[in-house]
This record gives sequence, structure tokens and C-alpha cells, in this order.
Amino acid sequence: MTQTRERGETTTPDGFDEIHILWISEGMSCDGDTVSVTASSQPSIEDVVNGLIPGLPKVNLHNKVLSPTLGGEEFLAAFRQAARGELEPFILVIEGSIPNEKINGDGYWTSFGNDPETGEPMTLNEWIDMLAPRAWAVVAIGTCATYGGIHAMAGNPTGCMGLADYLGWDFRSAGALPIVNVPGCPVQPENFMETLTWVLYHAAGAAPPPPLDELLRPQWLFGKTVHEGCDRAAYYEQADFGKDYNSPKCQVKVGCWGPVVNCNVTKRGWMNGVGGCPNVGGICIACTMPGFPDKFMPFMDQPPGGSLSSMLIKPYGSFIRRMRGITNHAANREPRWRHNKEALTSGYNPRYRP
Ligand code: SF4
Ligand code: SF4
Repeated sequence: MTQTRERGETTTPDGFDEIHILWISEGMSCDGDTVSVTASSQPSIEDVVNGLIPGLPKVNLHNKVLSPTLGGEEFLAAFRQAARGELEPFILVIEGSIPNEKINGDGYWTSFGNDPETGEPMTLNEWIDMLAPRAWAVVAIGTCATYGGIHAMAGNPTGCMGLADYLGWDFRSAGALPIVNVPGCPVQPENFMETLTWVLYHAAGAAPPPPLDELLRPQWLFGKTVHEGCDRAAYYEQADFGKDYNSPKCQVKVGCWGPVVNCNVTKRGWMNGVGGCPNVGGICIACTMPGFPDKFMPFMDQPPGGSLSSMLIKPYGSFIRRMRGITNHAANREPRWRHNKEALTSGYNPRYRP
């Protein structure tokens, strides 16, 4: 049975049978996160929307890129209903950074439909103000919506920010959840779908709230660093560093920020375990981080800490590499008793025969 709830009330044990996902990407956005999510397979967005995952509520997805509507007012209908309090429960997903409309001069930085009364464009901010307090859960997808991202870099004219900067870091949804931040530029497909699935199981009353860290990221996805999951870390440990972008070795000297960045892409790959970043030759530019991009630019320079740690590891690394080389050479030879001669030389002792 579908139920409605008062703001701040926690999940009922029964949960919801049906829920809407109102997804707005009309901030400072490229829709890259929406596109990325279509690459997920565990679960795929089709599996979630078609009800193929046991135990989830029926999901009605309202995303402009994936919408079967003809757009315009037909697409906006669900958003307008929700703003009037006539569509519950719903999860509000925000993609793109939120501009500062207090400094928009005579215009507006964003628009998502027009105000039926005035005919004037409605800003993303107006929609967030109307919908966030009514949303059972609020989810920020991608680094722009979570922390501001590329659009919020130094010198930008819009004064844009992440959703928690806009709503407040202690914001609680109608389902008593904090904002759920899933950063990444774009978001890793399964990182988002896995988090959404957890939120949906929670909505169904079948799971506790997703565990988030102090930056509101899912802990199980962002608790470790890129470096901790990078399959080039063995080169680092042996002080064997790539000098250019064609090298299969560790890329710290050509700009990789992996050791200080929270992200699981090196462990998880991009689509079905294929792809990634430093694991496949692209320096980690820290696209999941709240300090992205300013604190990591210029991207193709060596990170400041990288030169110290790579220098300190040099004596140990080159000695260990040499020793491992010798052992590796020995391990690559078969034992001498594996031959086709007349005598057995394996050391077999018939005394132990039964
Ligand atoms: S390429 Fe980057 S993440 Fe991988 S081992 Fe080197 S520094 Fe660490
Ligand atoms: S490995 Fe680095 S660049 Fe790649 S997705 Fe993660 S944070 Fe972004």
C-alpha cells in the first residue's frame, strides 16, 4: 500500500509499494551523470524501472533524457503535482551545481519550465525550494550537485555550489534522511545505481538508511582511496614510475592524485569492470573530491606530495625491485628433477610406501 508521511517521520516498517523519482538536471549540468547511469548493469536502470529487482517499490522515473513523454508540460506535470503536495512519496535527484540566483542581475542562471502565473522561467532554485522539503529522500548525483564541481571553480560568474551548500549540511528530508551525495564527474554508473537501490530498499522498509560519511558519501563506495585500489600500486611500491602517458607504470610523476583521492573506480572499473582511470593510463584528477577541480590543477603536473613520497621510496624500491628480479628469474625455471632421463632424481623415497 502506498503511504504518505509527515516531514521528519522515519520509515514505517511496511515501507512504500510505489515511489516517484523526480530528477532535475537543469542546474549547471552537462547531463553526463544521466548518460553515465545508463551504462550500469548491476543493477541497470531498466531493471529498476521495470520492477525486475525483488523487494523494490514500483519506480516511476521522471528524467528528461530518459522520459517517454513528449516533453514540455507533459513532462513537467509530475513536478508540478509534487510541488502542490499531490505526488508522494518521491525521491528528488539533483544533477548539476546550483547557481546563486541572488546575484543573477535582471535575469536567471537556470530555467526549468515557466511559472504558469507570470510566464517567467522558473529557476532550479525555486524548484528545489518547493520540492526538497516534500521529498522523501534527496539525492545529489555527480560532483557538481554534491560539491559544486567544475562549474563552481574559481572565476565562475554564477557563484554556484553543491546541494548541501544550498540546503544546509544538516538538511533532513521528509523521510528523515540527510542528502545522499554520490560524487564523480561523471558518477561511476554502478556507484549511483547501487546507492539508489539501497535508498529504494530503505523506502520499501527492507533496509536501514545507507551509511554515509561526514561528506554524505556512501561509505562503502568512498571509504578507500584510488591508490588503494590501483593495480599500478605495485610499481609505486617498487619506485618504478612512468615518465610519460604511454607508460604502463605508476603515473604519480605525470599528475596522478590517486593516493589522496576517495574513489573506487580503480577497483571497480567503469563498465562491467572494463576501463577506469590510472589503472588504464589516465591520471586521477580527483573528480570525486569536494576540492575538485581547483585544488588539483594544473592536472598534468606532478602533485606536490608525490615528489616527496616517490623520492623517499626510491632506495627501498630499487633495492627490492632488484631482489625480486633475481627471485623472479629463479621462479621462472622448473626444478632440475623434471627430465626424461633413465634415473629418477625427484627425491622419492620408497621407504614411505604403504
Ligand atoms: S597510478 Fe596513481 S593511483 Fe595508481 S599507483 Fe600510481 S599514484 Fe597510485
Ligand atoms: S579515479 Fe580519479 S579521475 Fe577517475 S573517477 Fe575516480 S576520482 Fe575521478
